Amino acid sequence: MVKVTIDEDACIGCEACSDELPEVFEIVEGKAKVKDPNAAPVEKIKEVAESCPTEAITVEE
Ligand code: SF4
Repeated sequence: MVKVTIDEDACIGCEACSDELPEVFEIVEGKAKVKDPNAAPVEKIKEVAESCPTEAITVEE
């Protein structure tokens, strides 16, 4: 079971994560939220986490 968390203080709402994986992430009031951590392969979620400009996404397995 994968756990994906967003550091809302770090998130700048750039929408990179939700553009890449809209089934996993959404932007609510300027901050990323996790919709469904199981909606994409964990490797893909990790790639998106690594591309987050503020390293706000944490993926735990
Ligand atoms: S990629 Fe990072 S900074 Fe951009 S919206 Fe997603 S969590 Fe926030």
